[in-house]
Amino acid sequence: MTNIPIIAGILRLSTKYDVDYLRRRALKHLDALYPLTLAAFDKRQETRTTPWRDNTAFFVASLARELRLEWLMPPVLYCVCSCPAGDIVDGYIWNNDVGQEERGDAGEGEEEGGRKDQVKKRIKLNKEDRGRCVSALIDLGNREKRDILGFLTVDEVHGCGTPSQCRKARVEVLRTVDTSRDYLDPLGAMDNRWEAYAKCVCKVCAEEGRRAHDEERERFWDALPRVLGLSDWDVLEELKGEALYGGDS
Ligand SMILES: [Zn+2]
Repeated sequence: MTNIPIIAGILRLSTKYDVDYLRRRALKHLDALYPLTLAAFDKRQETRTTPWRDNTAFFVASLARELRLEWLMPPVLYCVCSCPAGDIVDGYIWNNDVGQEERGDAGEGEEEGGRKDQVKKRIKLNKEDRGRCVSALIDLGNREKRDILGFLTVDEVHGCGTPSQCRKARVEVLRTVDTSRDYLDPLGAMDNRWEAYAKCVCKVCAEEGRRAHDEERERFWDALPRVLGLSDWDVLEELKGEALYGGDS
């Protein structure tokens, strides 16, 4: 088992000295954590090859910019957007336990706190990526409410025998989604809620809700690069292919 700071070190060195196979091996760890397809993204907690660490998305965003890995950006910035907005704007804290030098964007690190032994360094993403995330927050929130959770606000589902009961139940589920989170995660909005949902609506509504939700999630993922002001998936897939497999054929 390796970890993200080690991978960052290997990436920097293998890029500097042009050691392709090491670089690709390191990139595969990042690809496992921030894949380009929704199917892979949904399974990433099972397929990840690096242990969980607070603020990893911020760190990888900085690293990806430093090493020109644009293809990683949509899933990475999506994860950044689910972090506290204050950390996006003011910078994030990275506890680097292997004592490596921290590198955000040059010159943008700021120190905060009073006494010397309590100083925590905050590292900022570059200005463009901070702007991308902040401008995307409202759009991402709207897409969650309007699209991904849109099935909870439909008046009536075709074939439903108890429309007013099911409508009431859907509104109730929407209320619990709204009040139970303090972070933005449109893709995970219904995580662990399907059982409760299926219990309070009829079978027709249960199935139709799930179908509509899954379809909107796919659409959301398709639009993600655009929402974040990044290149489209096909461009990024090509860049990723070059980075991971280029020169092999
Ligand atoms: Zn129903």
